[in-house]
Amino acid sequence: MSHLISVMVHTPAHSGLGGALTYESDSVLAPGTLVRVPLGSRELLGVVWDEAGTRPYATETNASALAPDASHTTASQPSLLAMDDPSHNNAAPAALQLRAIASVLDGVAPLSAHWRQLVQFAARYYQRSAGEVALASLPSQLRDLSAEQWARRLKRKTKPPLANDAPAQAIPTPTDEQAQVLASIDAQSGPFLLFGNTGSGKTEVYLRAAQALLERDPSAQILVMVPEINLTPQLEARFRARFAPQWGSECLVAMHSSLTPAQRLNNWLAAHSGQARIVLGTRMAVFASMPHLQLIVVDEEHDPSYKQQEGARYSARDLAVYRGQLENAKVILGSATPSLESWHHSRPATETEPTGRYMRLAMPSRVGQGALPLVRRVDMNRQPYKTVFSSHLLEAMRERVTRGEQILVLLNRRGYAPVLHCTDCGWKSECPHCSAYRVFHKLDRTLRCHHCGFTQAVPRACPGCGNLDISPLGRGTEQLEEHLAELLADVRRPDGEPIRIARIDADSTRLKGELERQLAEVHAGAVDVLVGTQMIAKGHDFRRVTLVAALNADGALFSSDFRAPERLFSLLMQAAGRAGRDATMNLVSPCEMWVQSHHPQHPLFEALKQHDYPAFADQQLREREQATLPPFSFQALVRAEARSQEAAQDFLNAARDAGSALADELLVDLYPAVPMTIQRIANIERAQMLIECTSRKALQHFLAHWQADLHGLRSAHRQVIRWAVDVDPLAI
Ligand code: ADP
Ligand code: ZN
Ligand code: ZN
Repeated sequence: MSHLISVMVHTPAHSGLGGALTYESDSVLAPGTLVRVPLGSRELLGVVWDEAGTRPYATETNASALAPDASHTTASQPSLLAMDDPSHNNAAPAALQLRAIASVLDGVAPLSAHWRQLVQFAARYYQRSAGEVALASLPSQLRDLSAEQWARRLKRKTKPPLANDAPAQAIPTPTDEQAQVLASIDAQSGPFLLFGNTGSGKTEVYLRAAQALLERDPSAQILVMVPEINLTPQLEARFRARFAPQWGSECLVAMHSSLTPAQRLNNWLAAHSGQARIVLGTRMAVFASMPHLQLIVVDEEHDPSYKQQEGARYSARDLAVYRGQLENAKVILGSATPSLESWHHSRPATETEPTGRYMRLAMPSRVGQGALPLVRRVDMNRQPYKTVFSSHLLEAMRERVTRGEQILVLLNRRGYAPVLHCTDCGWKSECPHCSAYRVFHKLDRTLRCHHCGFTQAVPRACPGCGNLDISPLGRGTEQLEEHLAELLADVRRPDGEPIRIARIDADSTRLKGELERQLAEVHAGAVDVLVGTQMIAKGHDFRRVTLVAALNADGALFSSDFRAPERLFSLLMQAAGRAGRDATMNLVSPCEMWVQSHHPQHPLFEALKQHDYPAFADQQLREREQATLPPFSFQALVRAEARSQEAAQDFLNAARDAGSALADELLVDLYPAVPMTIQRIANIERAQMLIECTSRKALQHFLAHWQADLHGLRSAHRQVIRWAVDVDPLAI
């Protein structure tokens, strides 16, 4: 007897095939089973989705699952059966021959119902197909290995855990603050917002919480997420040192995008089989299959890197909270500068309102480290025009380098991209394909577009007027490093050697391993002054840094992006946390953070001076509340790309018209289409439209119905190349 099996495959978002397809199978297959199925002339990896065989048609499509009233979508999506030719979307499904499942991937247990529910939720919430989310989160080798290769892979014995020869490390006794926090985590269900200063011992709390869990239940699994790959090696080393002695060297696996496909598969299988106790990874790890998941840690939870910026634009932090609830796993979000969303969700009760749904746990003190640096503000209005480094700052830097201390100079990349410029005719090095300037790279004398990559040798003369005298406008990080080297050329280190200045940014670290090498040099003390973009502010434990300088922070104060101050504040707090990490250093003068600004009295800098995140957050939240901005409202963006700006906007405005009746009914605001900040990239025009509502539920309801309108409009707007919805966008 043959069974009907519904299988989730990865169909492109705009194919009209929303999600599960129906196939035949000789045997009943449990939901979550990995299978290969034919689609057209190809064979795809798929996941068995539904209970098998009870319905003639799979209706568990993305669109119909979203819309309570599925009639909206079924008309445009008749092709839910696995037909021979999937391009015939409009063929009547009735007379179709069902195709059979090609094969079952043996040796892999079915993906759990929780995992499928997480995928289904993410797809629905972020307006993508469940097939896309499901398949994108599985290691590519599951799809790419042939049947023979797969059989060989399965035969390979998993290595028995190696006896660990690393010496067991002394485990520190928790401080009072840590002990209190751990007791709360143990006693309450969470989710927890661990609001702990830089160096307050948050990581130690994660380690302890994980340890306590494993002691209670040796089969438990723990997911630890970090925002950036750069930060994984340090944290991995710490977790390994703590857990490998007892749980074996295989107890921890990493999950991030720089693993090889084979490593990725190995680690995924280790997590999926329940063999790995701890999975440590970047945002993608939120979809790791972990059958015994009981604890999720999201470190630096405020970091924008947790938001995926393409495909399904999910927030790994928000999904972690959902997943914790779904699987009854505890969730700890940790940060010294929490996102305003999480801060708001963890608000204490007031007379009129109960507490937020997160539990806030505070660790204000730094452990075994020096005090936080003294914040000094330099009023740039009083400096000579075009000053880059104020004389006071230079003096402070000289003194510290002479004493053998290290300095970080933090740049905001945007202000430091030099553009070539002709003083005669006003020509600037615009990119012919983008609405942006190309940046002058001195090293190889090229003009490079940072948006589309278009690169040319620097012209000998101005393309506009032939003037030979074209020069960079503004300073790049490269020039800044040179400028600083000139200013400090006469400074000597304690050993009599000349000062050493290094630069870390996206350009200097393009080669693989380069960032690690440069960081190692800083750690080894070979560098006196490190100049860099925000890359250098995050997480690194530079022991000898005693002065941090931020040069051009002002842009964010008056940005049109309402989240810019939040990002700036957390960046500066993070950077400040890089100073004074070694309390055993005998300092002549206390650690300092210098901020050069034209608006030194700005409340943001006042709060920074006091290291007072709560004051900053409360002030920002009041402003957001008055303006009904998130977290007091919920937003989505639709972005459209077309050959002309008009076509992109026409499509969005038509979508706005189509949705306006429902939007009115649900009190959803639809704003007119506008060009995106960078309007044109690689000759593609980009426009966007903002959607806002004070109810998340209403917004979700609206988006679910509106999808069908957007799909329906496509045929009348052939010039639109693609469009995408971004729910809870981070940049507007
Ligand atoms: P955070 O993650 O909040 O920045 P860490 O957990 O990295 O803080 O701790 C900062 C430093 O303090 C680390 O060197 C860590 O080993 C040390 N530390 C943390 N907790 C303790 C403790 N209870 N006793 C002694 N040292 C500790
Ligand atoms: Zn010119
Ligand atoms: Zn370009």
